[in-house]
Amino acid sequence: MSLSWRCWQEVPTTKQKTRLAAKKSLDDFVKNAVAKALLVRKLNPKGKELDKQKPPRENFVLVKSSVDTKIFSMFGRKPNQRSEFTQQELDKAQAQLPQLVNEVLKEVLGRPKSFLPQLIVEDAKSSHNCRFNKDHRIRKGEKRLTAKEGREKLRYCPVCAVHFLRLDIVTIQNTIAALEASQSTATPVA
Ligand SMILES: [Zn+2]
Repeated sequence: MSLSWRCWQEVPTTKQKTRLAAKKSLDDFVKNAVAKALLVRKLNPKGKELDKQKPPRENFVLVKSSVDTKIFSMFGRKPNQRSEFTQQELDKAQAQLPQLVNEVLKEVLGRPKSFLPQLIVEDAKSSHNCRFNKDHRIRKGEKRLTAKEGREKLRYCPVCAVHFLRLDIVTIQNTIAALEASQSTATPVA
């Protein structure tokens, strides 16, 4: 427990004021803990390599929001309900903060890569034929899909790309369904 934390609690004030101070204080603690954790791992807070979302958020923003989410769910809250945390909850969240930050970093750093090849929608830099059908001409400046498989770059016209992606969606959904079905009948490991 830090000195400033104690000071807040000793100021004679209404419960709500104390809680607001504690809430503000918790947010500062989260920010500090996240900044420190990134620094220790030599990760740039403003870098964007950790987020798999498009467009990616900055490392700091990603980790901070993930820690916030963990704090909310710890008490069964939804985001934006933090002002309703009790003093006790705020104390508990602060005590568990280092552990929460570690968990988030583990998840973010250990996330498996996508099963899909890297897919890039871009403007064709020169005219060429579609990979699937050489009658599909892609003119310079027109949209194309580039699928990177290892070192190879496979380029498709939008019609073919959309067709194959839709087939992939079906494959993915069937695969998930098969895995989930096996989950429900599997005997949990004792
Ligand atoms: Zn095509």
